[in-house]
Amino acid sequence: VVFTEQQDAIREMARRFARERLRPGYQQREATGVIDRKLLKEMGQLGLIGVELPATDGGMDAGAVVAGLVSEEIAYGDFNIGCVQMMGSLLGGLVSRHARPEIAKSWTRRQLAGEVILGIAVTEPQAGTDAANIQLAARTDGGGHDGYVLSGEKTSISFCDQADALIVLARTGDQGTGAPNGGAKGVTAFLVPTDLAGLTTRRFDDLGHKIVGRGSVFFDAVRVPATLRLGAEGTGFTQVMQGFEYSRILLSLMCLAAAQASIDETWPYTRERTSMGAPIASYQGVTFPLAEAESRIAACRALCYHGLALRDAGRPYRVESAMVKSLAPKTALDAIQQCIATIGHAAVSMDLAHQQRLRDVLGFQFGEGTAEAMKLIIARERTGRV
Ligand SMILES: Cc1cc2nc3c(=O)[nH]c(=O)nc-3n(C[C@H](O)[C@H](O)[C@H](O)COP(=O)(O)OP(=O)(O)OC[C@H]3O[C@@H](n4cnc5c(N)ncnc54)[C@H](O)[C@@H]3O)c2cc1C
Repeated sequence: VVFTEQQDAIREMARRFARERLRPGYQQREATGVIDRKLLKEMGQLGLIGVELPATDGGMDAGAVVAGLVSEEIAYGDFNIGCVQMMGSLLGGLVSRHARPEIAKSWTRRQLAGEVILGIAVTEPQAGTDAANIQLAARTDGGGHDGYVLSGEKTSISFCDQADALIVLARTGDQGTGAPNGGAKGVTAFLVPTDLAGLTTRRFDDLGHKIVGRGSVFFDAVRVPATLRLGAEGTGFTQVMQGFEYSRILLSLMCLAAAQASIDETWPYTRERTSMGAPIASYQGVTFPLAEAESRIAACRALCYHGLALRDAGRPYRVESAMVKSLAPKTALDAIQQCIATIGHAAVSMDLAHQQRLRDVLGFQFGEGTAEAMKLIIARERTGRV
């Protein structure tokens, strides 16, 4: 993939920030369990969050390909900080496109400046892959309050106890569809500030992405003003699924970048480490698996940028997005595992970053859609719903 000079310049800025400010503290930050807000503001001040969003909302109008380059670079330095950055593209985009202009200006500007964190709340205890089956209720408030009352539970929500606001998918009704509760067409999106009364959280003890924090969010009659609804009632499901089409590519690039970081650290080791009187790099049994892993990463990466270029050209890219999300996290995990196998005993210790990358990437085989869900999308595009 060949990039323009302008695209390369933004990538270079992201690379410098990631290698100098993020990479050195990747492992130490894990123990803190929270996002370093100062670091986030630094990233925002450099303009590295939501680069593709309109300048009027605090972005750079730089296009999806550049957002991909930035996602890759940031995740190379720290996969978890990459998650906040990716949410800038996904959720900044949703708010910018669908919220009232004054709400979009306020929230998106602050998100892109690194001043607030936004999360997305779709999954419920009974609805993961089957996201159209969400039940969290948003009832119009009859008590003279112009808005909605949200009741129910969301689960598996990233940034559950750190997000300043969540984009919440809730059920508003059947919208005349005739389907029970309206199916996907009965779902509406809301921007819900997390300091509203009645909203509580419980964090899970996860294997990885510890500074992100994933958990449940409980809504006990949370009153949300109608001004915080995104778009019309019944349009929330489509808004969010279209957003995921895009963010799945960015997330794929992040997983591949984490794996590339491990590979880049492993090649020099094969030259330094000797066994039976020669560097292990002289054994093809050592170098070929790494060469294969890096080739697979490169192939997935090329498909990511193809999808992003289609998006920038205003052309459909749903299939490319689903294809790469079905492949990239597993490809990345296999590559990191190969690096561990190549290095040997030293790589199993917590001293090296490989084990953390493995733990951080692992959950993103499921987050934003499993490989099976992606194959369903591809098959439906090819055969229609049969
Ligand atoms: C690290 C991480 C971060 C996350 N962050 C968020 C977040 O911020 N916000 C949010 O809303 N959610 C989040 N999630 C939840 C995520 O979106 C769900 O895990 C995902 O949608 C899958 O749902 P599930 O885990 O309940 O699996 P299920 O839907 O219960 O599926 C279980 C298994 O069955 C398969 N399966 C299900 N249906 C079918 C089918 N029709 N055909 C074939 N196979 C099928 C799945 O592929 C999977 O292997 C996160 C998850 C993780 C792990």
